[in-house]
Amino acid sequence: MEIKKNDCFTVSIEDMSEDGSGIGKLDGYIWFIKDAVKGDVVEAKAMKMKKSYGFARLMRVITPSQDRIEPACPVARQCGGCQLQAMSYESQLKFKENKVYNNLRRIGGFTDIPFLPIMGMDEPWRYRNKAQFPFGRNKNGEIVTGFYAGRTHDIIPQEDCLLGVEENKKILESIKEYMIENHVAPYEEETHQGLIRHALIRKGFKTGELMVCVIINGKKLPHSEKLVEKLCRFDGMTSISYSINTDKTNVILGKELVNLYGPGYITDYIGDVKYRISPLSFYQVNPVQTEKLYGTALEYAGLTGGEVVWDLYCGIGTISLFLAQKAKKVYGVEIVPQAIDDARENAKLNGLDNVEFFVGKAEEVLPEQYEKNKVYADVIVVDPPRKGCDEQCLNTIVTMAPKRVVYVSCDSATLARDLKMLCEKGYEVEKVRCCDMFGWTTHVETVCLLSKLHEAKHHVNVRLDVDEMDLTAAERR
Ligand code: SAH
Repeated sequence: MEIKKNDCFTVSIEDMSEDGSGIGKLDGYIWFIKDAVKGDVVEAKAMKMKKSYGFARLMRVITPSQDRIEPACPVARQCGGCQLQAMSYESQLKFKENKVYNNLRRIGGFTDIPFLPIMGMDEPWRYRNKAQFPFGRNKNGEIVTGFYAGRTHDIIPQEDCLLGVEENKKILESIKEYMIENHVAPYEEETHQGLIRHALIRKGFKTGELMVCVIINGKKLPHSEKLVEKLCRFDGMTSISYSINTDKTNVILGKELVNLYGPGYITDYIGDVKYRISPLSFYQVNPVQTEKLYGTALEYAGLTGGEVVWDLYCGIGTISLFLAQKAKKVYGVEIVPQAIDDARENAKLNGLDNVEFFVGKAEEVLPEQYEKNKVYADVIVVDPPRKGCDEQCLNTIVTMAPKRVVYVSCDSATLARDLKMLCEKGYEVEKVRCCDMFGWTTHVETVCLLSKLHEAKHHVNVRLDVDEMDLTAAERR
């Protein structure tokens, strides 16, 4: 049967793609169908076709998969922020583990790595401590706020995203009320007119502290005291500010921040480590799962108190500070200077004086420190962005020859590539564990422990009678 654009057809969903689309096959031709779930039989409409595969729109579920559930969010399909809302939480976890497993096998060539069970959430809803809502007007001219519809800048009026905290909705209502009462207009992208662009809301899950930052297309927020008065009615309201962003840009926050109420930050904890979070700070959005993920990284680091540890791609130092509680010395490296300012601030705040931070590229700072200052490492932890570690960085790690490497990854394809390279150069993957930080989306985090293979240990024994101080890091082990 020849299927043409806009034709409807029936297909069984046999698999899921990495981005969470259902995959079905008809006469050897592959269909990707968003919102379809493995195990469904669906009716779909052909939308876009290439030579050997095409994209179709889910029209109707004929026979639902065992894994299918009714999406809890009424705008799940329009919003597109959650790709797996039609999948039960349990089956999402399986999907994620499978994705990592397959990448390690396909790209890395790993077949028998011990996989520990994925760390799922006890409560998969309302896990995000941060949300950013755009403001605009609907067709009737009323002020609306919500989410951009997938790949567009049309606002879907939905103030109660189920991934965010319950306070968001009421805070947004207060902001709209303030706007109406004080004739403050929402921003319009097409004309670059109007004032209120976005609201950024954050909550400290352990402290209950709330932060609101309104992003405006102007220098001043008129009658700001009225907004403060409304927002201060919320339990836990700690910081209110506005950010000036008059550029025609998709970047949400501007550079200039004006404080309206409170100290300019909120405080929260991950484990026992305290963090000061300003509107501009990076902070993990799912602190509960972050604690599990980084707790596992700490466990894998196997620290006894005497170790020198490097934390590469350290961000605001979340992992560094975790490690510093158990290590002799921790060095963190991060490319974004502001993140390092926060990292240093957070180290001070927690009285951790055995951490030192470097601003720069991991692939430059590490070799430089190694060559110039003969630094060494007992353990190296990496938590790189999606593109994974730079080759130069991996090479230096290999040369420094730490006993253990702990790799935290948000992209299992680059993880597989990097693990393969480390394993070709004297390391062995001991265990892998996934962690779900972003339920209902396709994202998955993985933590992996690598150990230096035995030949190297043998090497240490031979060389130990030489004065240790004269040895470079690699020679010391
Ligand atoms: N563990 C960190 C988050 C790591 S996310 C935390 O909890 O804060 C990855 C980080 O790598 C980001 O902060 C990003 O700015 C940084 N980064 C990206 N490329 C880099 C590079 N070449 N060298 C060092 N850091 C880099």
